[in-house]
Amino acid sequence: MSRRNPEIARHPEKAKRAASHPKRPGEECKATPGAWVPRVDRGRCEGKKDCAEVCPYDVFEIRRIDDADFAALGPLGKLKSMVHGRITAYTPGEADCKSCGLCVVACPEKAITLVRL
Ligand code: SF4
Ligand code: SF4
Repeated sequence: MSRRNPEIARHPEKAKRAASHPKRPGEECKATPGAWVPRVDRGRCEGKKDCAEVCPYDVFEIRRIDDADFAALGPLGKLKSMVHGRITAYTPGEADCKSCGLCVVACPEKAITLVRL
């Protein structure tokens, strides 16, 4: 299967750092795929791509924010989004998430939480 962000390479060093983070949540890839999913706070996300660089299961897509999601942001969130080119993270592959928790601790904006379905 081709990667969702072919221009974003996996970053083994960042993934290793995230793996040893003391606050890494989740089930270390032992969860049933899709039992947990990442939720992105679009008011925080700055499209920095670290999530896509560390996720072993290619869950994230980094792209322009949808108009409806942009409209739902508060004034500060809109400003922040515009400053960062309206780029944000979506999770089209969340059914493959195995709850490794790497994206949560790798995100510099603390924009991701893992939610158990
Ligand atoms: S969720 Fe975090 S790591 Fe992912 S693109 Fe947004 S700011 Fe970057
Ligand atoms: S917890 Fe995050 S990094 Fe890990 S599989 Fe799920 S989406 Fe990917």
